Amino acid sequence: MQTEFKPELLTKPDFLESEKIIRKCVHCGFCLATCPTYVLLGNELDSPRGRIYLMKEMLEKDRPATPEIVTHIDRCLSCLSCMTTCPSGVNYMHLVDHGRAHIEKTYRRPFWDRGIRALLAATLPYRNRFRFALAAAILGKPFKALFRRIEALKPVAAMLELAPLRLSGRSPEEDPAVFRPAGPRRARVALLANCAQPVLAPHINEATIRLLNRLGVEVVIARGEGCCGAIVHHMGREEQGHELARRNIDAWTRELEGEGLDAIVVNVSGCGTAVKDYGFQFRMDPAYRDKAARISGLAKDISEFLIALGPIAPTRPTGLRLAYHPACSLQHGQAVRREPKALLAAAGVTVLDIPESHICCGSAGTYNILQPDIAMRLRDRKVENIRLTRPDAIATGNIGCITQIGTGTDIPILHTVELLDWATGGPLPPALEGAGLHSGPAALQAAE
Ligand code: SF4
Ligand code: SF4
Repeated sequence: MQTEFKPELLTKPDFLESEKIIRKCVHCGFCLATCPTYVLLGNELDSPRGRIYLMKEMLEKDRPATPEIVTHIDRCLSCLSCMTTCPSGVNYMHLVDHGRAHIEKTYRRPFWDRGIRALLAATLPYRNRFRFALAAAILGKPFKALFRRIEALKPVAAMLELAPLRLSGRSPEEDPAVFRPAGPRRARVALLANCAQPVLAPHINEATIRLLNRLGVEVVIARGEGCCGAIVHHMGREEQGHELARRNIDAWTRELEGEGLDAIVVNVSGCGTAVKDYGFQFRMDPAYRDKAARISGLAKDISEFLIALGPIAPTRPTGLRLAYHPACSLQHGQAVRREPKALLAAAGVTVLDIPESHICCGSAGTYNILQPDIAMRLRDRKVENIRLTRPDAIATGNIGCITQIGTGTDIPILHTVELLDWATGGPLPPALEGAGLHSGPAALQAAE
């Protein structure tokens, strides 16, 4: 795409980067068919190519964002399906991140939109605040139909819908600690404990630590680590995102320079994509550039780390038919596609491929709160496609997808590591407790 950036803008690293990205787009339109919002809405401006054009218009003259641009960029899921499809290597992720940061700096959103975004940014990345907010949301659940009737308050209804029925107890696995394997140590890793996941589903980190320890891996939850920053970064709040990222970089650097780390393991794929991008995010920061690049180089999705560790030997038959849902952040953001399925198959599971598996489930960070109508349509489409595979349960590697898909179906849904932990000697995952399985119950009972 031809660009006409003002020369003075090209002295700024973010504008220079965006200009290079836009120039790579050759208008071929291959990305349209795999973009969930274009598939649903059929509007070129809700496609990757249309959004690239809108961002070009906004950025090359350093213009403030307009309501039209904000509408179409807000509708983008940042699912990055377009990056998988694009034959020209357009880095849409870095472009839309810049576009969102520019919107945040130059556009004043309507009152309710501002309020809801401020609330999300002030609670979601902070575990204790999020736990408190979730408790309030559980109490507010009976009023969700009321909020749904008012257009501007639909995000509040979506928050109440997504809140679980009960708050999980606080898990000791969310505090800084070292978890040592019983036998000889094969590796030492830092686990990103995350912000929302330990509150919504503490059993996922517990299963991860048990599994890694069983495989001879020492796991440290580093003092000072927390939210990866992705949630606010995707809302255009660059500074807050960087502040959160710096804390993690510092916490893991202390570990690296102390007892050392073989990897930084992430079991929420949305966060993994962000940590792997720290090197880019801090490329212009002399104090953090090298440290951030080192951290990004060590970051691994749990499935990548497990595959590299070697074969997993199941100790019980699972007898399950599992639909594997590849989270967008894993398949498109990190290009990790084969590993989770290989691990599940090695654990004795029949892995079922979901039709349209490249299309997002509508979770996408805060998207299912801020764009609830599109998110709901994507969720229902995903659930229908999952049903076609007639699975006993669904496995995926991202808490956002677990929460989103879980609101649309009774089919049990769990994290890939929970299944691997169970298959190698851990407890039955909570999602499978009392599950009415379509097939394989005999094997399941035999296993217990
Ligand atoms: S990130 Fe996803 S929703 Fe956004 S333009 Fe690309 S494919 Fe479409
Ligand atoms: S596939 Fe890539 S090059 Fe083609 S229109 Fe989409 S972004 Fe541009």
